[in-house]
Amino acid sequence: MKQKKQVFDSVLDLIGDTPMIKLKKITSEFKGNYLAKVEAFNPGHSSKDRIALYIIEQAEKQGILKPGDTIIETTSGNTGFSIAMVSVIKGYDCILAVSSKSSADKIDMLKNMGAKVYVCPANVSADDPRSYYQVAKRLHDEIKGSVYINQYFNQLNIDAHYQSTGPEIWNQTGGEITHLVACSGTGGTISGTAKYLKEQNPNIKIIGVDAFGSVLKKYHETREFDDKEIYPYRIEGLGKNLIPTATDFDSIDKFIKVSDEESAHTARELAQTEGLFVGYTSGAAMQALKQLNELNEFKETDNIVVIFPDHGSRYMSKIYSDKWMSEQGFFDSKNEAAAQSIQY
Ligand code: PMP
Repeated sequence: MKQKKQVFDSVLDLIGDTPMIKLKKITSEFKGNYLAKVEAFNPGHSSKDRIALYIIEQAEKQGILKPGDTIIETTSGNTGFSIAMVSVIKGYDCILAVSSKSSADKIDMLKNMGAKVYVCPANVSADDPRSYYQVAKRLHDEIKGSVYINQYFNQLNIDAHYQSTGPEIWNQTGGEITHLVACSGTGGTISGTAKYLKEQNPNIKIIGVDAFGSVLKKYHETREFDDKEIYPYRIEGLGKNLIPTATDFDSIDKFIKVSDEESAHTARELAQTEGLFVGYTSGAAMQALKQLNELNEFKETDNIVVIFPDHGSRYMSKIYSDKWMSEQGFFDSKNEAAAQSIQY
């Protein structure tokens, strides 16, 4: 663990060592004790700060990256923001190839963080030369000394969490952890953390959270890719329509799937019960805890750690917008707009 300091050399010193916070009200009817690892406390407000810093520093150590070189990734989400932030401090150019589906807010955020953003058409296949995958690959080939982070297929994504998130959770709980519940997107967080925790105690149970519409749970159970599992869903960063090599399926004991609607409501509930204004996948992870309780997964004496990956501010035009929630049909019968605004 890093030593506590009052003054930091740069924002990079604030990456990791995120707090663990007890969940009380929202779990009051549940069996077991619940601790949330709140990744919004990273300076880039998500767990992706860890992989951005780790992967870039590994490339530096191997002499692949030199000052002025370029870092490339295909993302408009948290990883893009984290890579841009690390690039600013370390003096690299950052190129992000994003889909034209990305919101203007997200693109503006990345540009303001100094990234060069290539907006690529959303409705073309991954092997079309205009797709963001192909644009990133082409730029990587063309730009000498560039590094392509490629988070879904990069073993260093797992290593980053093995080196940081895993040891932090072990130390913060004093080893008193029986279950880890974490979302799986690239799979880096859950795989790296699970590997470290299982090395300390192989009895710790690792439960992955997947989305309806994603292939991960089925693949875990059958080791076969079933494209019938795939359909569109709203939660960003959770689940996938391909099998990422950054997921170590053997380290995960089981997956549970959650819905867009319940995850959105549960994220809102976290703000109003625990004062935690967290992202959509944090709502998904909390929703998984609810379902696991209904399935009688936990005992009264269990100590369950759940990872909340990012901050709620990135979802103002989504789950925290009453308009968006209504448009999705998520308010249907409940009519439970969270903050009723009062007009004077
Ligand atoms: N939540 C959010 C908001 C994310 O952006 C991601 C990353 N895709 C995840 C959860 C999942 O983390 P991982 O990629 O490490 O599986």
